[in-house]
Amino acid sequence: MRLAELKGVGKARLEALERAGLERAEQLLWRLPESYTDYDDRCEVASLASGRRCAFLARIKSVSTARVRGATRVVAKVFDQTGEVACVWFQQPYRARQLEVGAVQLFCGLVTRYRGVAEVVSPRVLPADTHGIEPVYAPIRDIPPKTYAGLVRQVLDAGLPLEDDLPAAIRQRFSLLPQAQALRSIHFPESREALERAMRAFSFRDLLFFALAVRRKRLGPGMGFAMKANLAVVQPFLDSLPYALTGAQERVLRQALSDMESDAPMARLVEGDVGCGKTVIALALLYCAFENGFQGALMAPTEVLAHQHAEEARKLLGPLGVRVALLTGSLRAAQKRETLRAIEAGEADLIVGTHALIMGGVQYRRLGLVVTDEQHRFGVRQRLALEHKGQAPHVLVMSATPIPRTMALVLYGEMDVSVVDELPPGRKPVATRIVPERKREGLYGFLRATVEAGQQIYVVCPLVEESEAVDAASAERTARDLASALPGAKVELLHGRMKGAEKEAILDRFAAGETQVLVSTTVIEVGVNVPNATVMVVEDAERFGLAQLHQLRGRVGRGEKASWCFLMADRPTARLRALTETNDGFVIAKKDLELRGPGELLGTRQSGMADERTLALFSDVSLLPEIQALADEVYAAPEEPAHAALLEAARRAMAARGLEVARN
Ligand code: ADP
Ligand code: MG
Repeated sequence: MRLAELKGVGKARLEALERAGLERAEQLLWRLPESYTDYDDRCEVASLASGRRCAFLARIKSVSTARVRGATRVVAKVFDQTGEVACVWFQQPYRARQLEVGAVQLFCGLVTRYRGVAEVVSPRVLPADTHGIEPVYAPIRDIPPKTYAGLVRQVLDAGLPLEDDLPAAIRQRFSLLPQAQALRSIHFPESREALERAMRAFSFRDLLFFALAVRRKRLGPGMGFAMKANLAVVQPFLDSLPYALTGAQERVLRQALSDMESDAPMARLVEGDVGCGKTVIALALLYCAFENGFQGALMAPTEVLAHQHAEEARKLLGPLGVRVALLTGSLRAAQKRETLRAIEAGEADLIVGTHALIMGGVQYRRLGLVVTDEQHRFGVRQRLALEHKGQAPHVLVMSATPIPRTMALVLYGEMDVSVVDELPPGRKPVATRIVPERKREGLYGFLRATVEAGQQIYVVCPLVEESEAVDAASAERTARDLASALPGAKVELLHGRMKGAEKEAILDRFAAGETQVLVSTTVIEVGVNVPNATVMVVEDAERFGLAQLHQLRGRVGRGEKASWCFLMADRPTARLRALTETNDGFVIAKKDLELRGPGELLGTRQSGMADERTLALFSDVSLLPEIQALADEVYAAPEEPAHAALLEAARRAMAARGLEVARN
């Protein structure tokens, strides 16, 4: 079904949907909600907790409109018998007319904190008698949520043949709802119970297909490129480094080199805490591929990181003759054409980039090694697609997040695992403190001293809401506060709405020490390396996951100087305390997994691909052992008709979602 066949989809909306990567109406069904709002699960105003999406009934006490630097802000004070809270809308002046003082409404939105005071940003305002469970979808710019839900409803009601690709025998054996029914409940749940049953069916199907699709038999001898790979080959590179490798780095490097000596393609996952020095291992291996006459690719999850890797590669490998090309989505057309040409002509030896590396049109000359960094940030789809670009290149994936074995199998298929379990010498643990709002002035004093000592500061603001505009506005507020609290310091703001080049310029200025304070939404989370930055302040820290906070903290403590991480939060929760107690990312990741489930680890939320987000919500880790056992069963006898049917179904389902599945 074409998108344009949906009622209400004209030219503008069609474009908006296409920008979000949607091509056909069916895809709306597979774009599952990110979360749900349960209107019957109501909070009291006094108990509104930061970081949660809450529905609460309240009476409107006052409504005011303010204009701050050209931006309109509507603030409604609302209350119930337990307390009062401010609801804030940015750039929606019409709100002021809609809100009637004295009326009781159901408000529903994400609670955040600004300078320690709870406020609800852009809540929805509904009649007091609203009930039921409503899905929340990842927003699509220019398509209001209500409109979007209406489109989904239309597709469901169009009665498209939703053939059940999970064989009936499997459904019965594991008591799973039929597909069509599950999908309907996922999008329009009638009750909690109905939703949970549907989610279970969904998780099961999704994870099973995924497991079947991703699980390749290890490619055997003769299928890959045997290289001359040993420490001697990479010695010129190692000699050029300003430091010696740690024991752990050298061990992992040797393991990977010996993989590359074999003509069975390497499939290795390197796990190691933030800052343990994974990049240099990757560069050594890429240098080895170069020495053997192969191209190498290094894929990073963000432009900022790709940029930084490219710079590092040019600095360290350029003098050794390696020609490094950078390929990202934000290249200008002419630049991009030239880069693609150079790659195809074999005039680029190492190609560093974002997932632009795997887009159509990239023709590698002789791709011998593929490294993906911060692996957990990528959708599996991107990773497989890159692997398929070469004959059977060696594959190395790097991650700062340790992944439990069962999940790794489902996600990556058979892989060898190396762990870099040692930090470079001289690293001081980052002292981590929880700072309540009332101590903010004291913190600013500390920041002033930091700036006077010539050191630099990161301040990270959480993503506030679906809307980048709101994020930007709230980060801007923080930047202004800081600029006035730190006279003489240059404060710059970096947020998601900025263009690639603008972001890079800001990061370059920070790296060069021209800026003392970098206020940012979470884009600096991955990989940025500025050794002179010694303080990390995380606003509204409860809003972040533990592993994420640990990653953020890893941005400081990269030089010799003592470093600090301040977590702004009024309550020292168990989660935040865990961070003050250990600097060991593996301990923290385990804790995070216990506390939050696998969605974050599956790393699908940030990948920005509509169909992959879905896994985040619908992966129930408790199903994994069952699924893995079933996948074993299937692969033990793939020719058995039931198994063959299942494999075919998995292939089709994955292909429908753009995931190419290697035939084993
Ligand atoms: P991560 O594993 O988090 O990706 P990086 O590769 O970014 O870590 O390395 C962090 C920092 O440590 C970089 O500045 C890098 O130059 C430095 N580094 C890496 N290995 C060593 C080493 N053996 N000795 C000293 N510094 C090192
Ligand atoms: Mg890294």
